[in-house]
Amino acid sequence: MITLKTPKEIELMRKSGVIASGARKLAGQMLKAGIATRAIDREVRAYMKANGALPSFLDYRGFPASVCVSVNDEVIHGIPGKRILCEGDIVDIDVGAQLNGYHSDCCATFPVGEISDDAKRLIRVCRESFFKALDFAKKGYRIGDISRAVQTYVEENDFSIVRDYCGHGVGRSIHEDPEVPNYIEQGVHGVRLMPGMVLAIEPMVNLGKAPTCVDKNEWTVLTKDGSISAHYENTVLITNGEPEILTPIEGDGFV
Ligand code: MG
Repeated sequence: MITLKTPKEIELMRKSGVIASGARKLAGQMLKAGIATRAIDREVRAYMKANGALPSFLDYRGFPASVCVSVNDEVIHGIPGKRILCEGDIVDIDVGAQLNGYHSDCCATFPVGEISDDAKRLIRVCRESFFKALDFAKKGYRIGDISRAVQTYVEENDFSIVRDYCGHGVGRSIHEDPEVPNYIEQGVHGVRLMPGMVLAIEPMVNLGKAPTCVDKNEWTVLTKDGSISAHYENTVLITNGEPEILTPIEGDGFV
């Protein structure tokens, strides 16, 4: 069931969005060669606590950390731990915040030091595909218009869009209806967008082919061909006019 948020709920979601975005920024600024990914988890957890929020992902279906840290060929759901980041890595920081019962969800992919030209282009195209989709995150369009915008832009740039996972509604739960796929299925257009819908739009883009597999830790999603992968996400409110990004983009690596 898709819930339309009331003005009061939207106000609460804006507050939670600022915290998720702040955690993304903080984590992005920490990334450098030589740090262990668990240090990021520690900082994000402390930041959430200091802001009176709860990390949405901690204990979600048993996820063991406050932030997903997915490195290189890890697409999503990387578990922070002992891994030490190296120059040239690309790192997806995905974080959700719960404040006063309302969640928000955002992520970005960041470089560690100097990265390859392919990796730079992958990160840029993935992020840009979100903004292509934003042009269709408006009253009267359908979910499928968002999906088509992402897929078209990514494939024009000769990258692959991940099909095994997708975006979603956000609100009292971190994952709500509707699903927001990043590709079009023949004949499927999805629901029409209405003011008050809140969607996490999150393209996942692989340098190589689209198929993924799950690591033996039963969480981390990897590209099947071992190629690197980028991910970008914001929580977006559908309005009567332009969409509103509830997780400010400042600190996403570009702003
Ligand atoms: Mg999400």
